[in-house]
Amino acid sequence: MNARFTLDGRRAFVTGANTGIGQAIAVDLARSGAHVVCAGRSSCDETVATITGEGGSAEAFEMDLADPAEGAARLEQAGDLDILVNNAGIIRREDSVDFTEADWDAVIDVNLKAVFLLCQRFAKGRIASGGGGRIVNIASLLSFQGGIRVPSYTASKHGVVGLTKVLANEWAGQGINVNAVAPGYVATNNTEALRDDPDRSKEILGRIPAGRWGQPEDIAGAVTFLCMPAADYVTGTVLSVDGGWLAR
Ligand code: NAP
Repeated sequence: MNARFTLDGRRAFVTGANTGIGQAIAVDLARSGAHVVCAGRSSCDETVATITGEGGSAEAFEMDLADPAEGAARLEQAGDLDILVNNAGIIRREDSVDFTEADWDAVIDVNLKAVFLLCQRFAKGRIASGGGGRIVNIASLLSFQGGIRVPSYTASKHGVVGLTKVLANEWAGQGINVNAVAPGYVATNNTEALRDDPDRSKEILGRIPAGRWGQPEDIAGAVTFLCMPAADYVTGTVLSVDGGWLAR
């Protein structure tokens, strides 16, 4: 066993761990040895059952981030943590001229404000315990590109990258690495509308050099790597996992 590629003895907290990318991340972290606190507004029992069924260690944790401050305040109840993965996110699609303030606020609250408040709580706990830790925030291709009809989502995901960098700078001295993973087009609930639209789906697939949509497991591997001792010197960066989309 290469000790630089194990998470034995680590406790990880993953938001939105009930489905999609978050579920795959929780399972992958557990397979690498971490105990995973699977947080969701919907039940994470299925994720916990998958992990424990494979001989791993996990627990479910209720957390609704629609009110970011109230949600983040619950983090302390999860006990000592070494790893925080901010995965929960929502998207609202509408022409920008018609986009409502309510849709703007809802997306910014979950995708950006909650991410900041969870990072802050996590870092306070880590610093009080002597430092060290890993944060991985889930960004997007729309952290780099504009997209169409998704103004609040694009703003939030650009924000996640800026936030990742400022927190990495501030907390590197305490041994807390802060990175982001930017998924390409991944087959989950989040992209169901795109996959159901034959024109958009064809257009997207035609631009992906890998020739396929991503699977949640593709993203999970990158997140787990960033949590490993092998990634000790990696901080403040964004790792794109997009089948080559951004290289094109
Ligand atoms: P998903 O299947 O829709 O999962 C989103 C997760 O966020 C779900 O667990 C959802 O819980 C949770 N969530 C939403 N609102 C919440 C709230 N108020 N409180 C707590 N949890 C909440 O989508 P996904 O594709 O796996 O997305 C995961 C992350 O990857 C998101 O940050 C997304 O922006 C990002 N991403 C996805 C893609 C893609 O192609 N799929 C691409 C780039 C980035 P519920 O199940 O209860 O709604």
